[in-house]
Amino acid sequence: MRQYRQCLSALVLCLSATGLQAQQSWQTVSEHVDFIEQPAKLRFYDSNQVLIQGEQCALLVDAPGEFTQTEVFIAHLKEQLRVPLCYMLASHAHDDHLLGLAMVQKHFPDAQLIVHQSLGENFHLAHEQLNERLDGFAKSLALSQQRMESLSELEQQPWREKIARAQTRFKQWQALRFSSPGKAISQPTELDLGKLKVELLPFAAHTQGDIAVLVWADKLLVGADMVDTLPYPGEANYQAWLMALEELSQLPVTQVLPGHGSVLVTSDLTKPKVWLEAIVAHVKANPSADVATLVAEFPKHYQPQGDELQQRAYTMFLEAGIKRAKHTLNKKG
Ligand SMILES: [Zn+2]
Repeated sequence: MRQYRQCLSALVLCLSATGLQAQQSWQTVSEHVDFIEQPAKLRFYDSNQVLIQGEQCALLVDAPGEFTQTEVFIAHLKEQLRVPLCYMLASHAHDDHLLGLAMVQKHFPDAQLIVHQSLGENFHLAHEQLNERLDGFAKSLALSQQRMESLSELEQQPWREKIARAQTRFKQWQALRFSSPGKAISQPTELDLGKLKVELLPFAAHTQGDIAVLVWADKLLVGADMVDTLPYPGEANYQAWLMALEELSQLPVTQVLPGHGSVLVTSDLTKPKVWLEAIVAHVKANPSADVATLVAEFPKHYQPQGDELQQRAYTMFLEAGIKRAKHTLNKKG
């Protein structure tokens, strides 16, 4: 999910507005696996992580994309590791999963970064994303500073300290750089963590390069954004995604860990599937309708009953999904 990037136009204000100080929750979900879930109010802004530990090695899937969260996350990670962190894996290239891994690399320089081949071949995009984020911070800080200076001396007081803190952080982050991936996969790949084998499954579904992780011994699947109950379909490969969900739902697993939201069970995989199918069917059935009409006329029973945040995400994701489906169908002619 990316809208929190818009938030960065006023970093300091934004940090307080979204309550980004909120804590991630570390949950031990099986013998070898910890699930690190974002607080509910941040579930559309930042990603969940997964830590898998064998007897010799640990594998981390994704890192929080919001850097203050990443710092907190890394401190916890160091406490939770029972074995060396040998691998870190980017489930896909979206900034809320990928960018924090640059900070994890700084703390764990010996851990090998694993990515999908499509990201590996275009890794300059990861560097660009990171630079863009850092430029965004610089601009936000300058803007916050300007805004503060326009206030009276008394009104400036509470902001002064916040901005100074943000500046200190920003200086540390400025030096962040990605190290190149150690492994880029395009085929199912087994990884031995020491008496624990995990399987990395590459797909082109939610993006051009997704990786799911199967932990056979624990009957657990790490599906990231591919399995979210309300997934972002703006870069969807619909056909491949639907096939992937079908394939994943056949696996002998009991728990499914999404990129956003709480722990799922296998039967929850029908939720994204049904919604994505409905988008494609709706666009196909109304080939001459424009995006606004398609959004307005999309069957209302798919609208989730959740809080305001969920409603906003739903509308935004639906529009992105409809645009993407129109684009895909037009290309096919
Ligand atoms: Zn994503």
